[in-house]
Amino acid sequence: MLLAFFGSANNASADVDGVRVWQSPANTRLVFDLSKPHQHKIFTLQNPYRLVIDLGGNAQFKPKVNKVDLASTLVTSLRTGRQKNKDLRMVFQLRADVNPKSSILPPNKIYPHHRLVVDLIEKNSRSIEPIRTVKTVADKVAHNKRDIIVAIDAGHGGEDPGAVGYRRTKEKVVVLKIAKKLAALLKAEPGYKPYLTRTGDYYIPLRERTRKARDANADLFISIHADAFRNSQAHGSSVFVLSERGASSEESRYLAQKENEADLVGGVSLDDKDDHVAMTLLDLSMTATRGSSLAAGKSILGRMGKISRLHKKRVEEAAFMVLKAPDIPALLIETGFISNPGEAKKLATSRYQKKMANEIFKGLTQYFYKEPPEGSYVAWKKGGGKSNKVVAARKASSVKKSRVANVKRYTIKRGDTLSQIAQKYNVSVTKIRRLNGIKNNSIQVGQRIKLPAS
Ligand SMILES: [Zn+2]
Repeated sequence: MLLAFFGSANNASADVDGVRVWQSPANTRLVFDLSKPHQHKIFTLQNPYRLVIDLGGNAQFKPKVNKVDLASTLVTSLRTGRQKNKDLRMVFQLRADVNPKSSILPPNKIYPHHRLVVDLIEKNSRSIEPIRTVKTVADKVAHNKRDIIVAIDAGHGGEDPGAVGYRRTKEKVVVLKIAKKLAALLKAEPGYKPYLTRTGDYYIPLRERTRKARDANADLFISIHADAFRNSQAHGSSVFVLSERGASSEESRYLAQKENEADLVGGVSLDDKDDHVAMTLLDLSMTATRGSSLAAGKSILGRMGKISRLHKKRVEEAAFMVLKAPDIPALLIETGFISNPGEAKKLATSRYQKKMANEIFKGLTQYFYKEPPEGSYVAWKKGGGKSNKVVAARKASSVKKSRVANVKRYTIKRGDTLSQIAQKYNVSVTKIRRLNGIKNNSIQVGQRIKLPAS
């Protein structure tokens, strides 16, 4: 049983004004708009699996129960009732057993309510995600050259709509469409493999987006957006790289600040202190990829200038949290300002989304042709596809790559020991030590180690 008490001691009721359910591959997020923060009690029942939430006081459930959209989620049905002590009881019937985790988020510009956010993580689903084995060209054809992997990150999603523009056009919808169109182009291009951080309407925390890109062995990370600015006249597309010193303009500072609030809107409670330590460590190792980020950004900006007015002629800089990837060149692309009526109208059309995806595609393939990663099909093709020595060397590097694909990663948690981990994942301590170059038993909280995938 999970008990949580929030809010004031006075007895005025906290009504439920709205309910939203978001399903992602990793979890199910239930969000309740509350008229004020209040005590709640959460527990699960079995046979059948149910999640029960009791809200104190004389809370009213305002939405129509049958209007709550549960399609394609873990929840099969919802009913509400009243306990003897007058608590409001909400019962969600579920397809699987879950561990619930709840928090209350304060109001913000997008959500004027307090929100009770309940994340449901399926029990028995594996606690560590295996590295997504991105198959390389070497698996399919004889030349043994790997694909360039491009991680495409459609901004926002789920509880976080992003900017909302003309005729309620939502940024999260537009950017997912552009991202999918870009992925389709890359999929069809020999030597490239796209990886989408999100494929549907759900929110992914900012840190999680780059982690996914790393696990997919991405060569480049592109986050796609269509933001709003205070001034509805602002228009044009832009490309950003991470800046550690400060923003290149007041507008970019404003945009980065808004973007970095996304976790709050998306329903992530910011009480994970370990994450802050991890972030500081990341900051230290980031300068290495800056040159590549700038070069790729310049190439893409040049192409985008062919179909839209550029907001600025140069690649801009700002402290976007989502760009903090330690070892992957990373870009944030503003495809336009959704706050500008003319641009919002264009961005909402499939034709323009396709044009935008096409120019980003051209910009990034031109960049990779100029600077192909070693061992890639594009490098091999550029070199005329010959030279035995080079082929042999690259073969070796692609073997290394495929070995990496046979491991999964595990992040050390407080209280973990090597022998416990070994036992849990059915490998020997020696094997873990060898795989990670660990000499003794010393491991640290937050350290990521490799484990054999099978
Ligand atoms: Zn955005």
